This record gives sequence, structure tokens and C-alpha cells, in this order.
Amino acid sequence: MNAVNADAAAVSPDRLRITEIFLSLQGESRSIGWPTVFVRLTGCPLRCQYCDTAYAFHGGEWWDIDAILAEVARLGARHVCVTGGEPLAQKRCIGLLERLCDAGLEVSLETSGAIDIAAVDPRVSRVLDIKTPDSAEAHRNLWSNLPLLTAHDQVKFVVCSRADYEWAREVVAEHRLVDTCDVLFSPSFTQVKPRDLADWIVEDRLPVRFQLQLHKILWDDAPGR
Ligand code: SF4
Repeated sequence: MNAVNADAAAVSPDRLRITEIFLSLQGESRSIGWPTVFVRLTGCPLRCQYCDTAYAFHGGEWWDIDAILAEVARLGARHVCVTGGEPLAQKRCIGLLERLCDAGLEVSLETSGAIDIAAVDPRVSRVLDIKTPDSAEAHRNLWSNLPLLTAHDQVKFVVCSRADYEWAREVVAEHRLVDTCDVLFSPSFTQVKPRDLADWIVEDRLPVRFQLQLHKILWDDAPGR
């Protein structure tokens, strides 16, 4: 990685703490399968029990936004996904997203749903988690985010149990989410059999998109893939 040194970062107003920047295939969401540059920001205030990116909670290195853009350009994909951790926990993420859009890239943002998304550039496709009870972080859902969603955005439920599925089904109906944006249901990788979740969705004719995380199937969830 082309990280700036710590002294330079300390005086730059446009720096973010970055865990990794890498090229892979998008493993989930509407953009699944596209070659994508991932910019993983360091830090997250949540602790979902199934978290697969705990290595991004701490550490990382300071990068100037100019250096991030240069690295994204060097890696050479049209799609870029800003993820974490919880990227919006760093306020300068808003400026990074704007700069990536200005560069003509297809930009998506993966966010926990616990932080206000109002300031995110409307050119960004926001992939907003709604945390289920069995994530252990449902109390962090910021419900005021939901009216801000548009057809350009997506919401995602990681389902950990049958009870989670029924809860998510209720939330989708109560907030009429399918009238607003794409709604994605994923099984928590070790907790719900993918076929069970698929069967529940089909039995209920639930108008949501089932998805598996492609990167886990292809690369067993190795960091940087
Ligand atoms: S919000 Fe995402 S990064 Fe943070 S603990 Fe939950 S799954 Fe992990």
C-alpha cells in the first residue's frame, strides 16, 4: 500500500484511516460479480456477533484522499466500494465518496445503518444494513435513515435464525421497503442454512433478493479478497 507517513498525515485535513485497498469481485449486493476496488476504512462502533471484518476495528494507516484516489485509479476497476468497519464513523468519508463520484466511478457504500446517511453524495449507491435481533446490535438501527433511501440504494438483512427472518419480514412490510429500493436477505454464514432461507423466502413469496456472499464461496473470506 502507498500509505502516507504518519507525520504528513498529522497535518493533512483530508486523511482517513484505511485498513486495506484491494481489487476483487463484488461479492454481494446489486453489483455482485463486477470487478471492484474495495476501500476498507478502519474502525466500527458496533460489534455484530457474526462480524467477519473484526481485523478492521483497529490499526490501519493514514491515507490522504489524493493518495486513495490514485490507488483506486491504479487498480483500474470502474466500480469502487467504500466499506469497513463502519466507513461513516470517519467524518471525512463523506468527502472521499464525493471525490470518487467526481472521478466518474460507480460508487457504493456499505454502512451499518447506525449512522446518519443524509450527507452521503446522492450519486452513491448506499447499501444499508438493518441489524436483526440476533446480530446483537439491533438497538443501533437508526430508523430515521429509512425515509432517506431511494431507488438507487439497497437495504440488507443478515439473517441469523428463523426468528430473525420473521422479524425482518415484518420490518420490510412495516416500512414498505420493497416500494423504495432493493431489499437483500443473506444467511449468516454459519448460522442459517442457505437453502432454509431460500425456502422461507419462496414459501412466503417475499419480494426480496436472496444472496450468498460470493467472496466467501470463492476465497473462503480471506482478507483482501
Ligand atoms: S457493522 Fe459491520 S464491521 Fe461493524 S461489527 Fe457489524 S458486521 Fe462488523
